[in-house]
Amino acid sequence: MKRIPKGMAGKGAALAATLLAGTLAQAQDKPGKLGFKDTPILPGGQWHVHDPDRPAPTVVTPAASPGGAPSDAIILFDGKSLDAWRGERGPWTLDKGAMTIPPRAKSGGENNLISKQEFGDVQLHLEFRSPNPPTKSSQDRGNSGIWFMQRYEVQILDGYQNATYADGAVGAVYAWKPPLVNPSRKPGEWQSYDIVFERPRFASNGSLMRPAYVTVLLNGVLVQNHQAMLGTTKWRSIGQYQAHGDTAPIQLQDHDSPVSFRNIWVRPLPQEAIAQDLKGDGR
Ligand code: MG
Repeated sequence: MKRIPKGMAGKGAALAATLLAGTLAQAQDKPGKLGFKDTPILPGGQWHVHDPDRPAPTVVTPAASPGGAPSDAIILFDGKSLDAWRGERGPWTLDKGAMTIPPRAKSGGENNLISKQEFGDVQLHLEFRSPNPPTKSSQDRGNSGIWFMQRYEVQILDGYQNATYADGAVGAVYAWKPPLVNPSRKPGEWQSYDIVFERPRFASNGSLMRPAYVTVLLNGVLVQNHQAMLGTTKWRSIGQYQAHGDTAPIQLQDHDSPVSFRNIWVRPLPQEAIAQDLKGDGR
């Protein structure tokens, strides 16, 4: 009898175990059968584990290239039209596929840009470019911001070699949480934000049941992870909540710096995307 070389016995046993596991898996997953009815019921009481009747996820076609809008996104800016927005004092400048905050002298004062459509829980993609060459410093260099529901700011700033207070850095929940890291690109380079914003929940008497939360990736790097927000963003004071409706516009801040934007899209999030820890009013 041929002797099995030392070391092969173990490999043979492992191979046999793998084949057996595969056979068992096949037996359990019988072709044509999509699931099981004799499995335990999951929390919520509606579905079994591997329930064949549970609806399949909706098909969404992703963009051809990273950062592009998927098939179910609402396009807020595609480089061609400012139609999804209104400026407080007039339109922002549209040039070469980008929109830019116009000079105050031209607009006549602070000219925030407000989305015509309102959103609550939302996934947002946005790209911005800090002015190049940079001028001024700290909060006066490339300052803008994404104000969810016109209240809760994720800061936009030129964060490249630009010292400022930490809770005002790019990627900060302004006046509250500095970003986990600073992954800024140089001024003049396009940068990306991918943000999941969860609106706050209020009881019918107006009291806060659950704060707003935000998860933020800046240039693909996590800078806020499901971070609770303190309330309406305020300069030099602590944000506080005041009850409001379930949707409100997204606002881009004019802070008197010619920051440019492109490729802005959103996906309103369904109820099941939000943590399941509240009932009734809180949902
Ligand atoms: Mg700002």
